[in-house]
Amino acid sequence: MPTAVGETIQPCPECGAEIHADNRFTIWCAACDWNVDPKDQQEKRERQEQQGARGKRGKRVRQGRLEEARRALAQRYGEKLHAEVTQGGAELRARRDGAAMLAYAIALAVHGVTAALLAGGVFCIVWGWGGGLVLLGVVLLAVAVALRPRLSGPPADGTVVHRADAPELYALVDEVARVVGTRGVDTIAVGKEINASVASRGLRGRRVLSLGLPLWEVLTPQQRVALLGHELGHYGNGDTRHGVVVGTALRSLVTWRYYFAPIPRPTGTEMVVNAVYAVPLLLVQGTLVLLDHLTLRATQRGEYLADREAARVASTEAAAGLMDQLLIVESVDVFLRRERNNAALTGARSARGTAAASADAPDGLWTRLAAHMASVPEHEYERQRRAGARRGHSVDATHPPTHLRRACLLAGPPSEAAVFLDDDRLRRITAELAGARTEVARRIVRDGVG
Ligand SMILES: [Zn+2]
Ligand SMILES: [Zn+2]
Repeated sequence: MPTAVGETIQPCPECGAEIHADNRFTIWCAACDWNVDPKDQQEKRERQEQQGARGKRGKRVRQGRLEEARRALAQRYGEKLHAEVTQGGAELRARRDGAAMLAYAIALAVHGVTAALLAGGVFCIVWGWGGGLVLLGVVLLAVAVALRPRLSGPPADGTVVHRADAPELYALVDEVARVVGTRGVDTIAVGKEINASVASRGLRGRRVLSLGLPLWEVLTPQQRVALLGHELGHYGNGDTRHGVVVGTALRSLVTWRYYFAPIPRPTGTEMVVNAVYAVPLLLVQGTLVLLDHLTLRATQRGEYLADREAARVASTEAAAGLMDQLLIVESVDVFLRRERNNAALTGARSARGTAAASADAPDGLWTRLAAHMASVPEHEYERQRRAGARRGHSVDATHPPTHLRRACLLAGPPSEAAVFLDDDRLRRITAELAGARTEVARRIVRDGVG
């Protein structure tokens, strides 16, 4: 068999089987799974090293464990839901179950504690005016202010694209929203993350859609519609994590945990402080884990439901194609890092006065990225699929494993597209994003992706 460009053949060090390897991607063995998931192995090694140095970094290790437990739970729920959907008919409805109600009640209690601190502070100041109670009042007020429910602010990273400057993009989002059964978004922010997300910000719940260009640019037009369908689909179902009450309570709890965190390597007095803080810390930690567990199932359900919306809007085929792309986002990351390093090298050379400035590097970045991603060989998809099955790969800990999401999509009857993104529309949208594309490309080349 002739070998493709960059392809070599070598024996597997583990079982000796022939490996067709492309040196741009991880070399692995399809016969025995040798090196199928090198990143996971590296993380395991790092974790072991961290555990070796526990005394120093105890807190970080604990948080790592919490994250690990959460991932395991997310995978379990993901698998359970997947089994429900594929075996028990298409029983997948958004529902406010007991867990969701309990989460809501706990969240209210968390805000209740903050309100009590505030009321206590005001009471102490007013009642004890002129006396020592005022001091206590001020302290209580300060704590209440620090713990106040924080609504998320404007997106920290991203170029805001206004409706007036991108009518076609907003029209597409509106059209997708109509099919999903919700309203469109107020703001679209374009950034350098390999992801997309929606968030409600401020008291009025202004909707912000964050579009990561490195993901957007590697998708086919219909997959882009599927991505929008998924994100807007989150508004269509009762996802409590997107809810203001639970979301702000989670944020308050994280702040509390920060305040009660034990002082590392404490002196005598600090040991007393640590001991006093131990009980509230345990309470906060426990509530955080409980709230997280209670909402996780609903979150996972929400992801599957959002995927279903994606299929309804853009077709099952496009939604499944989106999953395939999500499976190999690691390759996007690797490619962009390489681009950045190359630009840094040319930059260093031009600083010595040989070439022109490296300002050309951002030009054509998106074309190069798309071409690279289109050339990803099937064996890399297969490797990611297998690695995903082994470790429960997901975009992040809130999403079910990508291969399960894909399987879920294909389990039901296939649906046709309701929204089309044809060449004309795509050209207009790309033109609308021209400024943002250049700016984000420049930022990636200058600062990297992550
Ligand atoms: Zn092998
Ligand atoms: Zn999602």
